[in-house]
Amino acid sequence: MDAEIISVGTEIVLGQIVNTNAPFLARRLGTLNIEAQRQLTVPDQPDLLEKVIRAAWQRSKLVFVCGGLGPTIDDITLQGVASALKTTTQLDRDHWSWIKQSFKQRQKAMMPENIQQAKYLAGGQPLANPVGLALGSWYEYSGHRLVVLPGPPREFMAMVDQEVMPRLRSLVDTTKQIVSRTLNFFGRPESQLMDEIASVTKNLNRVVITSYVQPDAIQVRLTVHDQSVTKAKQLLDHAQQAIISKESEYYFGRGDDCSLAATVVHLLKERGLKITAAESLTGGMFQSTICSIPGASNVFDGGFVTYAASAKESLLGIDQRLIEQYGVVSAQTAAQMAERSRQRMGVDVGIGFTGVAGPDTLEGQPAGTVWVGLALPGQTTITRQLHLGAYVGRQEIRRQSVQYGLQMIYQALRK
Ligand code: ATP
Ligand code: MG
Repeated sequence: MDAEIISVGTEIVLGQIVNTNAPFLARRLGTLNIEAQRQLTVPDQPDLLEKVIRAAWQRSKLVFVCGGLGPTIDDITLQGVASALKTTTQLDRDHWSWIKQSFKQRQKAMMPENIQQAKYLAGGQPLANPVGLALGSWYEYSGHRLVVLPGPPREFMAMVDQEVMPRLRSLVDTTKQIVSRTLNFFGRPESQLMDEIASVTKNLNRVVITSYVQPDAIQVRLTVHDQSVTKAKQLLDHAQQAIISKESEYYFGRGDDCSLAATVVHLLKERGLKITAAESLTGGMFQSTICSIPGASNVFDGGFVTYAASAKESLLGIDQRLIEQYGVVSAQTAAQMAERSRQRMGVDVGIGFTGVAGPDTLEGQPAGTVWVGLALPGQTTITRQLHLGAYVGRQEIRRQSVQYGLQMIYQALRK
């Protein structure tokens, strides 16, 4: 089955925001062997939108219209789709009561226009919004289907996964199963990783292996088409085993949404360990990353942001002479930050980040020079130096430092 995706929004057409929804949906559709053959973007202009939808509805069996379901004047999607399909919109009374109730509970003033978010295409079905207000719509007519989805990416992704995918699964040809799984790796150039993977999966030519570089991981996707899901899963198991035993040092988890930070938090929890940090160039980014993972409170009580040398001395009690002797950007300072933070918080693991975020040099060291210290119970403190390219810029240097710290913790804990 082929599909087309229509994204609605003047800000997308003008390049003010990047369209992340359409690629997300296309990837999800790909897992069902549905190809998004056309992806169009239209501004918030009712006439144009109607024209585009009418044409798409004629030529495609499956059309997605994404964005513009809000209550404001520029949110024209539902009305535009209804006109194009020669139908109207319908109010979901229960949902409207729920919207009113939720405004009341949050003590927020509601606009009369909010009623728009409780409407869906007449003759179709409303799609629940697991994380927001606006309903989506699922509409079918003479073998064609059209799906209307909200624009905010969180809402969009939740509705796709929880409402749309289950409906699509029941539509696609179940005699030809596609089973796939994603493995996540860090710290390797993609081509090297894929070469090594190819060398251990030569005999598994029914497994299609592709890779995607994400900001914090390389994702390797294994896909098998087979009549039998059991057979397909066996093949995937074989391939997964071969790959992981070759790349065990760099593998950190399975699944599209698996992150190294989440893996580290789970690992710490599993081991009953608590962590803290002392952060200089990362300024709290490591701790914020840990806190972004649900369940962080099991492993993290608090920590330190010690940007200036004086804060390293006053908050952590690091000897001024040590900093003067070795420099702020040094293995010794990173180790002390890790050890002192761990002692002061009375926890098991301490990590210290110190380095040059740039653009200027510091103590004669170029931007991108970073030291990470890791103190663990009953072990000598580990220190590692990073030489990140100054050209990647300040934020990226800070971000990559955090990711490297997570890698160090992961590798130390897994031993
Ligand atoms: P709202 O109630 O917030 O208005 P909506 O369903 O009307 O929701 P839009 O107005 O189209 O959605 O978009 C809301 C916001 O969501 C945009 O300002 C933008 O930040 C984001 N957004 C919308 N579409 C996309 C997209 N395709 N990719 C990435 N972000 C998007
Ligand atoms: Mg809107």
